[in-house]
Amino acid sequence: MTARIIDGKAIAAALRETIATRIAALPYRPGLAVILVGEDAASTVYVRNKDRAAKAAGLNASTIRLPMETTQASLLGTIQTLNDDPDIDGILVQLPLPPHIATDAIIRAIDPAKDVDGFHPENVAALALGVPSLVPCTPSGVMRLLHAAGTKISGARAVVVGRSNIVGRPMAALLLAADATTTIAHSRTTNLPAECRRADILIAAVGRANMITADWINPGATIIDVGINRTPNGTLTGDVDFAAALPIAGAITPVPGGVGPMTIACLLDNTLLAAGRRR
Ligand code: NAP
Repeated sequence: MTARIIDGKAIAAALRETIATRIAALPYRPGLAVILVGEDAASTVYVRNKDRAAKAAGLNASTIRLPMETTQASLLGTIQTLNDDPDIDGILVQLPLPPHIATDAIIRAIDPAKDVDGFHPENVAALALGVPSLVPCTPSGVMRLLHAAGTKISGARAVVVGRSNIVGRPMAALLLAADATTTIAHSRTTNLPAECRRADILIAAVGRANMITADWINPGATIIDVGINRTPNGTLTGDVDFAAALPIAGAITPVPGGVGPMTIACLLDNTLLAAGRRR
């Protein structure tokens, strides 16, 4: 048996096209503001990709680039201006922020109705209560991949490896809301391979190259690899040993070309959703 490869690139392209069609039919252009503080190389690439995709879909997108020395007070002022701007529907502050800025204070300052990253406590609480509002983009993209792959979620045993606020926790909340029997594993989990082997749906969100090997995989399972790791030769690889998993899994996402493209597509979707609610 060889696993079906879940083509995140194609699924994301189709979603972006649907979003573009919906935006074109609106009497206004939804506005997205992305704030980048400093010049972190990876963040600069992410922000450029978000800006390009947003503009291509027809959003009124702008990137606000602020110097590394920007004070917390000044960043809060920028966010307040965007909160008050009726033409702005979505605000995203690219993380990580420089160490002299309290990330938590910045996230709390964003109007929850414009919080297209879904990180504001109000949106986190809504998700935890099972009434999702604006949901973090990466886990939201994973749910779309599972649906596109035809994976049965209700009643399935799902294991999420990783418990970050950005991926693992909201991922588990979404799977639970979709009626999966959901386990969250992390660095203190006892016998992680055995936990993973029980999974009908295995979500890897750790950040350790090829950590999940063949003997961790339940035959026929759907595997979604969120991990992005740079190898010594400069290529990207996931948390799952893809070649070893291929003959065992039922379906699997590649890295790159799996979850990554979905994250940006879901950001556009969140902006459209926020705009529709506000206007
Ligand atoms: P993170 O904040 O560093 O969290 C990593 C999680 O993995 C933590 O919960 C940690 O457990 C757990 N972990 C670490 N070592 C482990 C081990 N040996 N066994 C089991 N669990 C272990 O990372 P993140 O932001 O969630 O990102 C995870 C990965 O996804 C990274 O590779 C990141 O680049 C990637 N990512 C991809 C996208 C995308 O769009 N494709 C988006 C976001 C992130 P503890 O809590 O116990 O420390």
